[in-house]
Amino acid sequence: MGRLQKIFIPLLGLVLAFWFYSARENFKPEMLKGKRVIVTGASTGIGEQIAYHLARMGSHILITARTEAKLQKVVERCLELGAASARYVGGTMEDMAFARHVVREAQTSLGGLDMLILNHVGASYFGFFDGDVEHVRKLLEINFLSYVAMTMSALPMLKESEGSIVVVSSMAGKVGFPFTVPYSATKFALDGFFSSLRQEFNIQSINVSITLCILGFIDTERAVRAAAELLRERPAPRGECALEILKAAALRRRELYYRYSSTRLPLLLRDCAAELLDYLVRSRFR
Ligand code: NDP
Repeated sequence: MGRLQKIFIPLLGLVLAFWFYSARENFKPEMLKGKRVIVTGASTGIGEQIAYHLARMGSHILITARTEAKLQKVVERCLELGAASARYVGGTMEDMAFARHVVREAQTSLGGLDMLILNHVGASYFGFFDGDVEHVRKLLEINFLSYVAMTMSALPMLKESEGSIVVVSSMAGKVGFPFTVPYSATKFALDGFFSSLRQEFNIQSINVSITLCILGFIDTERAVRAAAELLRERPAPRGECALEILKAAALRRRELYYRYSSTRLPLLLRDCAAELLDYLVRSRFR
C-alpha cells in the first residue's frame, strides 16, 4: 500500500500537470494583430515596451502620458516597427475628465476597443510614511481612480468586442511593503476593485477578461533610480516583462506573476506563514 502511494501520487501529479499545461492555449503574436489597444503610461518604462511589442504584432495603438515630446517619439518608433496605426493623447491622470477623454479618443479614432492596458503610475517617495494624507489622496486619484474611470468609460466598447482589461500592479499590492506606504495602498485598492469586478462580470456573463499583473522589481529608469541601492535583488528586464504582460492579456489569464520566483512563490506563504513572508519582504532591503 505504502509503495503504491509512493508511486501513484507522483504519477497522478505528473498526469495532472501534463493535462493542465497541454489544455492551456499557447500565445501567438497573431492574437494581437489588428487589435485596438490603449496603453497608459507609455512614454517610458514598461508601458513604452508594451507599445513596441504591440507595434511588432501589428496592433492599432493609442498611447497616453503627460510628456508629449516622449509620446511623439514612441509613436514614431511604433510606426517603424509595424504598428497598424499609432497615435497619442497627452494629459494627466489626476484629471478624471482626461481619463475619460482618452477612451473617447479610442472610440473616435479606432472605432472601438479590444484591450485597455492600465499601467501609469504617479510619482511617490521611497521612505518611511511621512503622514501626508494629501499625497495619499492624490496618488489614489492617479493610480486607482483614473483606472476605474477609464474602465467604466471603456466598458461598452469592451463588451462589444469581448475584450480585455489589463491592470499593472505590484508585489506591493499583494503584501505589505515598507517605504512605499501610499503606493502600496493604491495597488491594494486595484486588487480589491478589479478582483471584485471580475466576480460581477462572471455573474452577469460579461465576457471581458481582467488580468491583474503582479510585478516584482523591473529595470525601468524610475524604479532603478528609486530602489536599486536599497533592494538586494536584481531587477528583471522591462522588455521581457512587457511581453509577459501581453501574453497573459491575450490568453485572458486572471493574474500574471512576473517574475514568478520573486512574486508567486513568496506569496504562497501568505496564508500559512504571514510573519515569515513579512520578514522575507523586509530582508529584501539593505
Ligand atoms: P515609469 O515611471 O517608467 O513610467 C510611468 C509612466 O506613467 C510614464 O509614462 C509617465 O509618463 C506616466 N505618468 C506618470 N504620472 C502620470 C500622470 N499623472 N498622468 C498620466 N501619466 C503619468 O514606471 P514603470 O514603467 O516602472 O511602471 C509601470 C507600471 O508597473 C506601474 O503601474 C508600476 O506601479 C508597475 N510596477 C513597476 C515596477 C518596477 O520595478 N518598475 C514594480 C512593480 C510594479 P509622464 O511622466 O510623461 O506622464
